[in-house]
Amino acid sequence: MVSKQSLAVALSELEQFTQPDQQLEQYATDPNIAADLLWQAHMAGHLQGTVIDLGAGTGILAIGAALLGANVIAVEKDEKAIEICKKNLTIFEGTESVNIIQGEIQNFSEHGDVVIMNPPFGTKERHADRVFLEKAVQLAPVIYTMHKTTTRKFVESFCTDHHLDIIWEENKDFPLKRSMDHHQKDREHIDVTLFCLQKR
Ligand code: SAH
Repeated sequence: MVSKQSLAVALSELEQFTQPDQQLEQYATDPNIAADLLWQAHMAGHLQGTVIDLGAGTGILAIGAALLGANVIAVEKDEKAIEICKKNLTIFEGTESVNIIQGEIQNFSEHGDVVIMNPPFGTKERHADRVFLEKAVQLAPVIYTMHKTTTRKFVESFCTDHHLDIIWEENKDFPLKRSMDHHQKDREHIDVTLFCLQKR
């Protein structure tokens, strides 16, 4: 992959959730935002080893990391999302290094070099974001993650408690597709902050 732009174009070809499960907060990462996060990790040399994608969904982050050279373990509990992810894995060459593990992230315990994730933001199930962060710190010394900007204080105090430094962050307008609710506007945006957290 020669540029962030070509990565974003490739990722925009992937199939997204057909029937997003709102309880699982299945909000697919926008291809441009996925490319921003992945390119940052790539430039920092963080995609050379094993990357764990927690809540991989349809695989956008896992596939992007693989295209940039990582070995990827994609953990996801939703069968329908995994089906789409498997289809997406057939689109590009160079994604053979993605291994899908079906199950709850709470039951996953393999270690890696980096965790990359777009966790549930915790709007449907309280503290769903905390469960993901807690698992991530157990598994790897470097974490790329995204959170609603309004929860920044929570991320900051989580980092203090778990001896993590925020070594990079960037604010984004995150488009939410509202395909399940026809009375709403087609697309809405929320403020999301991308982070790279590193163990001290
Ligand atoms: N990584 C994808 C999907 C993000 S949405 C992307 O960036 O587009 C969050 C995903 O986490 C959903 O696919 C949801 O099914 C999954 N998920 C939520 N709770 C989970 C859990 N406890 N264990 C495993 N997967 C979970």
